[in-house]
Amino acid sequence: MRSFTINYKSTKTEIVFGNYINVLKKTLKNKRFIIICDKNIFLLYPEIEKLSSVICINAGEKQKSLNTVEYLYSELIKLNADRTTNIVAIGGGITCDIAGYVASTFYRGLPFILIPTTLLAMTDAAIGGKNGVNYKNHKNIIGIISQPETIIIDKNFLETLPEEEYRNGIAEIIKHAIISGDDFFNKLKNNKSQKINDEILRLSIQTKVKFVTADEKEKGLRRILNFGHTFGHIIEISKNLKHGEAVGIGMVLASKISENLNKCNAATTDKTIKMLEYYNLPTTCKLDFKNFEKLLTYDKKNDNKYLHFVFIEKIGKVVVERISRKTIIRVLSKVIS
Ligand code: ADP
Ligand code: ZN
Repeated sequence: MRSFTINYKSTKTEIVFGNYINVLKKTLKNKRFIIICDKNIFLLYPEIEKLSSVICINAGEKQKSLNTVEYLYSELIKLNADRTTNIVAIGGGITCDIAGYVASTFYRGLPFILIPTTLLAMTDAAIGGKNGVNYKNHKNIIGIISQPETIIIDKNFLETLPEEEYRNGIAEIIKHAIISGDDFFNKLKNNKSQKINDEILRLSIQTKVKFVTADEKEKGLRRILNFGHTFGHIIEISKNLKHGEAVGIGMVLASKISENLNKCNAATTDKTIKMLEYYNLPTTCKLDFKNFEKLLTYDKKNDNKYLHFVFIEKIGKVVVERISRKTIIRVLSKVIS
């Protein structure tokens, strides 16, 4: 069992790698815990039922709602959860986000443990303390930043993860490698198996940890993690693509925009494209400029005239700059025409 500690300003989280049942038993000892579990995971891993009381939820953006939060509160009351009960979330990003929110608000906050079961959640969603749900059409608009006591990374869950969900996670790992620099980037590039090994998983997690601990409330440095996401979110919604696929295309667009504004050279964009291709991720799709122009206005991270855009200068040097929406739209029209 290997582990390391994430030190936040006022709290800390232990990341432990290993068999989740062994780690859970060792971590919680005789403490009472209730499991909030993705229903698909519950069906695939019947041993979960033997661990403790389990409340199942469906993992979908539609279910990531206040209705599910209310359902979970009422189930917790039925199970006589009290201030000393620990919550254990087992599932992908959606389950971890909802369960983290419920745990952080029930009795004004119960201790919780996250056991992410998707590659995306292991390297990205479970780390950083963002918990919450959607409201009406607004993604993640209700939430809280609060850290789990422990995150357990058990790679065995990836054995049952569907291929498209696996690729979804790889896109964020590529993003972490681009942000991190040549060492990590080259390891990912030269990874013959195209499957994420322990070292790559650890490097990806450490990159995310580095940025979230430097900026817990997402005021500055953490914005670098949004590389590829300004356009990625628009593509995800308008093209109905998986988050990772859309972010991959978003990173290529962000790189081309950086190129156009003389911040990076074509070779940098090419490196990103080749990496995405190597991991069977799309690098482009048919984009409707008018739609982009309209939707760019509604990105919640923008004020009206300006937005914080994440540019790339080279592998390992990604920078955030405030730039006028007009300029981005002008350059984008060149890039996607
Ligand atoms: P994320 O937000 O991390 O991308 P989600 O919570 O949206 O993941 O889950 C994506 C889908 O994958 C859901 O249908 C979920 O039930 C399923 N899933 C999650 N983990 C696994 C796993 N280890 N094996 C099989 N299916 C899984
Ligand atoms: Zn993302």
